[in-house]
Amino acid sequence: MDLNNLFIEAENALQEEFKKVDRIEAIYSEKVMNAFHKNNVQEACFNSTTGYGYSDLGRDTLESIYADVFNAESALVRSQFISGSHALNVTFFGLLRPGDELLSISGLPYDTLHEVIGIKENGSSLKSFGIKYSQIDLVNDDFNYDAIKEYLTNNKVKVIEIQRSKGYSTRKSITIDKVANVAKLIKEVSPETIIMVDNCYCEFVEEKNPIEVGCDICVGSLIKNLGGGIAPNGAYVVGSKKLVDLVAERLSLPGEGREVGPTLGINKSLYQGLYLAPSVVASSLKTAILTSYALEKLNYKVSPKYNEIRADIVQNIEFGNKDDLIKYVEGIQASSPVDSHVTPIPWDMPGYDDQVIMAAGCFTQGSSIELSCDGPIRPPFIAYQQGSLTYNYGKLSIKKAVEKLIK
Ligand SMILES: *Cc1c(COP(=O)(O)O)cnc(C)c1O
Repeated sequence: MDLNNLFIEAENALQEEFKKVDRIEAIYSEKVMNAFHKNNVQEACFNSTTGYGYSDLGRDTLESIYADVFNAESALVRSQFISGSHALNVTFFGLLRPGDELLSISGLPYDTLHEVIGIKENGSSLKSFGIKYSQIDLVNDDFNYDAIKEYLTNNKVKVIEIQRSKGYSTRKSITIDKVANVAKLIKEVSPETIIMVDNCYCEFVEEKNPIEVGCDICVGSLIKNLGGGIAPNGAYVVGSKKLVDLVAERLSLPGEGREVGPTLGINKSLYQGLYLAPSVVASSLKTAILTSYALEKLNYKVSPKYNEIRADIVQNIEFGNKDDLIKYVEGIQASSPVDSHVTPIPWDMPGYDDQVIMAAGCFTQGSSIELSCDGPIRPPFIAYQQGSLTYNYGKLSIKKAVEKLIK
């Protein structure tokens, strides 16, 4: 097959899909712009604090902007959160007390949370503090509404966790409509239960966010969507003031909470990242849609398909064999702006169960809003691809990876 023709045909066929992405980008651009204006972003916001970090105008203003963009009461946006996993950890420990119960209603949580929760033994897990964990699996890629209702009727659950993005699983990511449905049910049956959402990869993809459909608190990574490829690290937590304050008291210390946390010169990057995020997420989505179309034409199984509703920026490609997976991932690495000369090899990543191969020729280590592609070395050999700072760089990389694959 002529690859150039394939990509020309793909782009012609994808115009309608791309328009939908443009529409969402416009919505979020306006939200971000309005929040910048409302909060009087000014050059002084880019100043740095050191030491305790008292009265950091830039930090406090940015948190107010995040709260506005999410339509939430409060936000905590910090580089003291190493990344999303750390923010999820701190949120769990902030909200749960010994004797409480945590319930996941989206099946097994993300790999890095297994030791946090105690699904895998660890002397510092929630379990080791006497926090109970239970789980209700998805059925046909949707919540098991009956089981959730029954469980909440018979048990006292402090926190429900919903993980929207699929992680290294083969299920579909969870759309905002489904989150809205289940939030409504939970609030009817058990209004006291806190609904906490792992929103990684889902920001700025659909028109609404979990807070707007009834969830209480929402967590995500700044080396993903909202960092816009500019934030050097960090994570955010948004939601009700009471809950976000509890997380802040746990992140720093009781009594100081959100009042401390020096920004050490990164404020400007976090502002610029958020400002670019609507466009970068749109580029990522278009790259994912193009990948889905092209790889399906080449007879690989893909999920989501090019014209399916997307809840996140992740594209699965099922290679069915180890060699093709590795060749494709190598192709993505070879087309990266950084470390293009490096050959990725499968390795035992901390926090993950299987060996993982990872193409990440990124400006920021581990950034997956930059084009990145990774997969655990286990059948059916699925690559999880996400990101791209611009669509054209994304397209070039996909072409190169496909060339390598079919050669
Ligand atoms: C990436 C991811 C995380 C962890 O975020 P990091 O920033 O990589 O620590 C947690 N949950 C989901 C669903 C993710 O995709």
